[in-house]
Amino acid sequence: MDIQYEIKYSNRKTVNISVERDRSVIVRAPQGVSEDKINYIVKSKRDWIIDKMNHKQKYPAKPEPKEFVSGETILYLGKNYQLTVVDDIFDGVEFNQRFTISRANQKEANKLFKDWFYERAFLKIEPKVKFYAQQLGVKYKQVKISDMKYRWGSCTPNNNVIFNWRLIKAPMYVVEYLIVHELAHLIEPNHTPEFWNIVSIQIPQYEEAKTWLKQHGYLLEVEF
Ligand SMILES: [Zn+2]
Repeated sequence: MDIQYEIKYSNRKTVNISVERDRSVIVRAPQGVSEDKINYIVKSKRDWIIDKMNHKQKYPAKPEPKEFVSGETILYLGKNYQLTVVDDIFDGVEFNQRFTISRANQKEANKLFKDWFYERAFLKIEPKVKFYAQQLGVKYKQVKISDMKYRWGSCTPNNNVIFNWRLIKAPMYVVEYLIVHELAHLIEPNHTPEFWNIVSIQIPQYEEAKTWLKQHGYLLEVEF
């Protein structure tokens, strides 16, 4: 498992790693320490970090997996929608301000929802990538939706941009922030002030999006 962390540069003298109550990992570092070095330090402290993250009293337990029964809610684009299981027989998931599945498919509901979320993720994300790539003047090869754990998005050395299908649980402004974040890495690979400047021009409320992601980071570890 790759540990996701956020780097905060300051005038401090040493590197410090902390695990927050929401299990997010913050690395506080002096100005000028490279991301490679920080990555190396985080890796060397991996066991300690994971131990902390699994501390039950301090950190809330992961939510229970969904059972896909009527009345359950499913998060989509930042809103909870109710699920109804009906006797009618039809394929897949229907969505119209609520989710509906056929009782005949209830056992495979997890897979049906995953397929539906993958499809929606691509439909929502792809046009935005196109739009923001134009704004930023960057070129990418392909948009891919994947099942990576512990990350919302990434860009590959051959300029593919990949997003976790779970990202579509987030409100659209958060989705757009992450798209811009990944595309901005095609210009500036590190989280330098220049990087955040590029991001903030496209997404002025990016701090809000970061806060949302921090509070909902656990969503990366659950299916729905
Ligand atoms: Zn980044």
